[in-house]
Amino acid sequence: GAPLVLIDPGHGGIDPGASTSGGETEKAVVLALGLALKERLEKSGRLRVAMTRTEDVFISLADRVRIAREQGAALMVSLHADTLAYEPGVRGASVYTLSEKASDDISARLADAENRADLLAGVDVRDEDGQVGDILFDLTKRETRAFSHHLARNLVETLGKSTSMHKNPLRSAGFRVLKAPDVPSVLIEVGYLSSESDARLMQSLEWRSGMAEALAAAVEKYIDENATRMGNSAPKP
Ligand code: ZN
Repeated sequence: GAPLVLIDPGHGGIDPGASTSGGETEKAVVLALGLALKERLEKSGRLRVAMTRTEDVFISLADRVRIAREQGAALMVSLHADTLAYEPGVRGASVYTLSEKASDDISARLADAENRADLLAGVDVRDEDGQVGDILFDLTKRETRAFSHHLARNLVETLGKSTSMHKNPLRSAGFRVLKAPDVPSVLIEVGYLSSESDARLMQSLEWRSGMAEALAAAVEKYIDENATRMGNSAPKP
């Protein structure tokens, strides 16, 4: 069948994520964007689409990873829109992949902040990096990481055409939500609620549909470029 894209709107329920002084929350911004992306991907009818949440509910980071693996997702896209109190005035989108060593301090602090989501709900946050030392498992992880990078590069390229990007848009850190060993996963900061201009932009329908279009284009390009691996019978050039 068609490859499955898993859209993962960050936060939810008792975890609002970032918020503006005006009371706009990250969990609402990314859910609206996730639903718009789902609609856009389904319109072209080439991919199957699932979401980790379609309403305002809390889902642990481990459960998001579990959903990706159980559903056999071809890829997972986590959507976020944080505030960076320590980087005021910064704006633009960034795309993150998993790495044990963060690409920079800001990314490390962002991952720490995101990884605290589970503490809010009292979820056990011990690391479940099992199967250490298993060669096949390590190979799978390495391959998954390469595919995640490929997807991230497509996203940076496509998003850069229609939205402002962070000065270093391709970054990495130890995000727990990106730890599925066999599902290529990226986390996108679509903008920062701490930036007044970003926050204003993210309320608009034009922004949301433009962003959904750009995300969908990058995902479809990635799927096309990896059609063989997906077991997809789509003809290749
Ligand atoms: Zn977030």
